[in-house]
Parts: sequence; C-alpha cells; structure tokens
Amino acid sequence: MRQGLLIDMDGVIYSGEELIFGADKFIKKLTDDGIPFTFMTNNSQRTSLEVIRKLKGLGIKVDKSHVYTSAMATAKFLSDQSPNGTAYVLGEGGLLSSLHEHGITLVNTDPEYVVLGEGRNFTLEMVQRAVDMILAGAKFITTNRDPSPKKPGWNNLGIAATTAMIEEATGIKAFVTGKPSPVMMRSARKFLGLETSETTVIGDTMETDIQGGVQMGYKTILVLSGIAKKETLGHYAFKPDMITSSVDEIKFPLTWWNTKK
Ligand SMILES: [Mg+2]
Repeated sequence: MRQGLLIDMDGVIYSGEELIFGADKFIKKLTDDGIPFTFMTNNSQRTSLEVIRKLKGLGIKVDKSHVYTSAMATAKFLSDQSPNGTAYVLGEGGLLSSLHEHGITLVNTDPEYVVLGEGRNFTLEMVQRAVDMILAGAKFITTNRDPSPKKPGWNNLGIAATTAMIEEATGIKAFVTGKPSPVMMRSARKFLGLETSETTVIGDTMETDIQGGVQMGYKTILVLSGIAKKETLGHYAFKPDMITSSVDEIKFPLTWWNTKK
C-alpha cells in the first residue's frame, strides 16, 4: 500500500524566514526514499514557484508537484462549482494566478464571487467595493481563517481580521476553502493521488492541520515546533495520532504504515 504525507510549512519546515532544525534532512529523506508528499499551506499569497524559491533558499529542493496552496484549493472549488465563473479578488499573486489558471474571470463589477486572500495591497476602498458586491448578491469566499500571529512586523494582518471586517459589514458569513475545510483537505489528498487510508497530515496547528486531518479520517502528526503548545492540548476534543517536537524526530516507516501490502 502506498503511504504519503500532507505537510504544513510554517511552524513545521520554517519559522518566518528560518529553517526549523532538521527539516531539510527530513524532506531529503522523503525524496530519497520515494515517499509521496506535498506541502499544504493556507497562505494564498504566493504562487507555487514563489514557494519553491523560498524553500530553495532554505536548502530544500522540490518542484511544483510538491506544493498545494489554499489558492489552488479555492480555484479548483470555484471552477467545479461554477465553470467559467467570475470573481472580484482581494488578494495577491498566488490567488490571482490560480483563479486565472482554473478559468475564473477576474472582474471589477457584478462578480459571482468575492474571494478574499492574504494581502497587503488592497485598499479600504476595494474592501468597501467587495462589501457592496456581497450585499448585492455575490457569494463570499475566504481562502482561510488563520488568525494573526500577533507579532510586530508580521507580513500581513492575518486573514481572520479582514474576513471578520467584511462579515461585520455585510452580515454574511464567509465560506472557507482552506484548512481545516474539507474542500482543501480533500483536494490536497487528490492532488497527491492518495486514498484516505494512505494519508498522513503533519502540522503545527491543532485548529487547522490536525482538526482538518482528523475530520477527514487521515492520520495526523502534531509537531511542537510552531503554534501548538503541549500544555494546551488537553482542551481539544480531538487529538493527533502522534506528537513530536519537530519533523527531525519522525522516523519511517510510521507505526500505522502497513508496509506488507
Ligand atoms: Mg503551520
């Protein structure tokens, strides 16, 4: 039986601009041993090529088959729901190019969808326009609901904040496509060509990676090199199958991998 991995990036592979110890060796081992994997990130800002370039700068060599973003999940979802649909986008390159590649037309008036992603280059005037479009009937999609890390100097506001602003102004709740939404959890698995029983998620965040994985019936590994803290794990109604300090500690084959078949 094949077994493969969906791997979160921030807090697992790197922290901001710094490599997490052993992450480069870990990915090299996966590549050398032919273990299928893809990175699965909620950040919709970067294109696959930009993600690949960032990883290369940290000494990790991967190609486009190893990168799956919430922008890609969102674009696939919209093209399935409404082939050749239209969208007004508050977001950056990764989201714009994914939507375009999936045949969604980007418009400035009367869109079918308003799509929100991470970004620093949209204005309050654009947000206001999006609010008016939603009030006029456009469907509101947000690529994820990740909270702000609440650290000075972070590269964006945290999309939970911008989503909340638009929800408050419209009275309409966004539909979330990124982790832990099954939209992304399922399409990432399919992107990698795995079955449910063949899929393990590795992540640092209980509310996204682990919750999403548990809900889909995937195996899950929580690493403590990012957001999750050991002391708070007891508060959650779900738990990961394994907890490690970082990817450096993960040994193969995983105990639940049936290597006989
Ligand atoms: Mg993370």
